[in-house]
Amino acid sequence: MRVLSVASEIFPLVKTGGLADVAGALPGALAREGIAVRSLVPGYPALLSASEGFEAVYSYDNLFGGPAQVLSGTAVGLDLFVLNAPHLFVRPGGLYGDAGGRDLPDNAQRFAALAWAAAEIGRGLVPGFAPDVVHAHDWQAGLAPPYLRLAGGPRPGVVMTIHNLSHQGAFPAGLLAALRLPPSALAVEGVEYYGGIGFLKAGLYYADRITTVSPTYAAEIQTPEGGMSLDGLLRTRASVLSGILNGIDETVWNPASDPLVPAPFSARQPRRRRLNKAALQERLGLDGDPTALLFGVVSRLSWQKGLDLLIEALPVLIGAGAQLALLGSGEPTLERGFAAAADAHPGRVGVDFGYDEALAHLIQAGSDALLVPSRFEPCGLTQLCALRYGSVPVVSRVGGLADTIIDANEMATAAGVATGVQFNPVDRDMLKAAINRTQTLWRNPKDWSRMQANGMRSDVGWGRPARRYAEIYRGLAQNSA
Ligand code: ADP
Repeated sequence: MRVLSVASEIFPLVKTGGLADVAGALPGALAREGIAVRSLVPGYPALLSASEGFEAVYSYDNLFGGPAQVLSGTAVGLDLFVLNAPHLFVRPGGLYGDAGGRDLPDNAQRFAALAWAAAEIGRGLVPGFAPDVVHAHDWQAGLAPPYLRLAGGPRPGVVMTIHNLSHQGAFPAGLLAALRLPPSALAVEGVEYYGGIGFLKAGLYYADRITTVSPTYAAEIQTPEGGMSLDGLLRTRASVLSGILNGIDETVWNPASDPLVPAPFSARQPRRRRLNKAALQERLGLDGDPTALLFGVVSRLSWQKGLDLLIEALPVLIGAGAQLALLGSGEPTLERGFAAAADAHPGRVGVDFGYDEALAHLIQAGSDALLVPSRFEPCGLTQLCALRYGSVPVVSRVGGLADTIIDANEMATAAGVATGVQFNPVDRDMLKAAINRTQTLWRNPKDWSRMQANGMRSDVGWGRPARRYAEIYRGLAQNSA
């Protein structure tokens, strides 16, 4: 079976968040299920460098404002189609915004082009490559389902995956013709979304199957509180909506062989983590105290992640004698808040506001507990890395955080099955209580080691999720056969 995956990011070539991790890791896991995935990605400069020597398998004279080519080849173990369209994808700044972080004015055309190419490849544009399924990820690929469906005639099955419902790709209705959509599509039963055009909405409406990245998030997004204005549509599509947890790449995230970790370790030698803790404390200017409970954070700094609550809860953390090591970038007000905390508590709060893979790995390997106080979290990857690296996750009970961590409540601790600490509702006081509860557990080394060992043995790989995606693909291929 053949699948065309369409994503605007792919690890390790271009990444702003978890979407890239999933798009990069799922093809390898699906290969073990006998499913060949080729990924279509935009030709950003990093992709163009990686695709030197690729073959041009199709040329467009004019794809949304300029010439373009579909390049085909393999890089870093990934089978790729790279959409080489310099007028759309070679820009200064980020993947979606300018250097100042403002959305690019032609994002609609840029990602419509990606979806257009996906739909055409889905329908056989590239000789010798006819996919059974097109799998579109997030709003950037959201027009692939309507382009495939509206063209009529035979087509592959279409899966739409929501990695984060808060990014929806909403654009003015006046772009309809420019986006090569027929006037009839501008309807509630179509691409129309609050008077404009909704890329994610369109994908969700036209896809054969919808998935999101955890069972709890699949339920939350069907409620008015969690549905971000798409809950009504998602309720009507509930029979084709599934929640499939993400995994992590167990080669990239392997504490026993991680080149970014000073003292590699495994579940059998967790004490070697002390060396990593000392290295992390030194790296972020924290006191070299092995007995202080060291909390880590690796996160985008945004409202979603609830880290403003952590700033408010810091006096409790410091008062209990704990330390904080934070790596994050994003909203300037949050950066300022954590910078002020680091100034106010030298040796106790250490921060870095860059994007730094090596430090992310060191925090996982050297912190005692990893804090993820998200207001909502579709799946979350950092708590999965933390489980594998023996850092006890302390998380809000929402979305994928609810599905992946077993709270150290009294019964779970007595039964010896806990893997972390959960709290809910997501507010400052419950976060403070969770920090205090974690501190109490830390003082009981037997319970703590048990929790850590349980986490390190948890199955956080892609095997189980890949089997679920394979089932969905096979179901679609059967229906269209
Ligand atoms: P989201 O996709 O919402 O940002 P996830 O937990 O799903 O959150 O994925 C975040 C990914 O990005 C993880 O792999 C995490 O290690 C990584 N990450 C986040 N912030 C940073 C940072 N400042 N430096 C390095 N890696 C980061």
